[in-house]
Amino acid sequence: MNREVRVRFAPSPTGPLHIGGVRTALYNYLFARRHGGKMILRIEDTDSQRFVPGAEEYIIESLKWCGIEIDEGVGYGGPHAPYRQSERREIYLQYAKQLVDAGWAYYAFDTPEELDKLRAEAEAAGKTFAYNFEVREQLATSLRLTKEEVEERIARGDQWVVRFKMPENEVVKMDDLIRGHVEMNTSTLDDKVLYKSADALPTYHLANIVDDHLMEISHVIRGEEWLPSLPLHYLLYRAFGWTDTQPQFAHLPLLLKPTGSGKLSKRDGDKMGFPVFPLFWTSPTGETARGYREDGYIAQAFINMLSLLGWNPGTEQEIFSMQELIDSFSLDRVSKAGARFQPDKAKWFNAQYLRAMSAEELAPYIQPILKAHGVEATDERAGKAAEIMKERMTLVTDMWDLTSFFFVAPTEYDEKLAKKQWKGENPAMLKELAELLKGIEDFSKENTEAVVRAWIEAKGFSLGQVMNTLRLALVGAGKGPGMFDVTEFIGKEETIGRIEAILANLKPLE
Ligand code: GLU
Repeated sequence: MNREVRVRFAPSPTGPLHIGGVRTALYNYLFARRHGGKMILRIEDTDSQRFVPGAEEYIIESLKWCGIEIDEGVGYGGPHAPYRQSERREIYLQYAKQLVDAGWAYYAFDTPEELDKLRAEAEAAGKTFAYNFEVREQLATSLRLTKEEVEERIARGDQWVVRFKMPENEVVKMDDLIRGHVEMNTSTLDDKVLYKSADALPTYHLANIVDDHLMEISHVIRGEEWLPSLPLHYLLYRAFGWTDTQPQFAHLPLLLKPTGSGKLSKRDGDKMGFPVFPLFWTSPTGETARGYREDGYIAQAFINMLSLLGWNPGTEQEIFSMQELIDSFSLDRVSKAGARFQPDKAKWFNAQYLRAMSAEELAPYIQPILKAHGVEATDERAGKAAEIMKERMTLVTDMWDLTSFFFVAPTEYDEKLAKKQWKGENPAMLKELAELLKGIEDFSKENTEAVVRAWIEAKGFSLGQVMNTLRLALVGAGKGPGMFDVTEFIGKEETIGRIEAILANLKPLE
């Protein structure tokens, strides 16, 4: 590849970024990094009807959370600024005019009402109305009106659009890096609107081509839903005379529902209890949607999971750091077939990542959770608590339930466990154990365990009986790690305090 690799992620701020969009951004990023190129973030906000406040900020924050770094773009600046299409509006009109002057496009003055009428008439006749070569000559366009009439209409403020004059019966030959050679006959295509006087803005097609050209984009990597637009985009490059430098295209496979049929939607997530967005989202009207971050996923686990939805490394390897993804990514290994989303696999990845983390790495995840429960702990202690329990975690949000007893004494006791343990000789046995513990100087897990085991043996108690009763006192429930992990962590004073508390507060149940 001798051309500098420049790719762009070009979302429209119409709502929260779907995980399919995150995957598109990720593949662009991996491709850019793999080839020492640039990753550009362009915001395509020319559809004012669908603009949603907050969506752009959401997109930027999502990419940051995912570790997808932007080299140029909205929020980052760069040599082709501005990167927000609504701030580039004066650029596009001249290009629309250029196409009209060269005969590749024309002005159309039909009002929405007139078009609705034509649509209704076609439907009544059992057809679908298409604005194309068959009808364009009969409509109110610059193809039929005189130059003077056109100028007069524009001058008096009639609304107009510029439409692309789709050639009749031509086979457009295209190449896609994932799908190979594709052909399409233009007679199946209509005359797409390129520019609208009503809001003085281009449509997606014009703005996208003009900006990809001006921003010197070398590869367009985007979702499969844009494949039907590719013939138009090829023709636009030709019409502008930019074929020589037109980017190469790669259309990514769809993300499919867990059932494997149809596109993954928010509804699937709602139904089956998983997020389809990276971050929690609140719409301007107050609707919310859950996100991977808030649901307790580690960003790299989420990215790792997404990376394999549509790409495979050709090996058995499943766990990839971002750098490993960069080193192994290639478009050749992106599949044409849709990739089925598996919520359980997302959880599996997360559990793997949590398990591989050190106490130090876990601390920033558990600290906010402890704080939210009013617990102040050093990073060292917080991280250590999470580390002890990490094997049992699937999500970051599991942390409180799994570690709270390290920081707070039980305020109530699990009924089932209490019924089983808090009877017979057990309360008295626990009292004796407290006395024994008071005499231990070195409260390390190993030493405490050795002393207590020797005592159990000498007394003839069963290990299970002692440990379960101690668990009731220290944890309050039948969960948690080995008891000596708990005693070491909470320390001598707290251990004895918790034993004294159950002796004082819980009446023997028999
Ligand atoms: N703005 C388009 C979108 O939201 C971008 C498509 C493209 O990458 O060309 O998907």
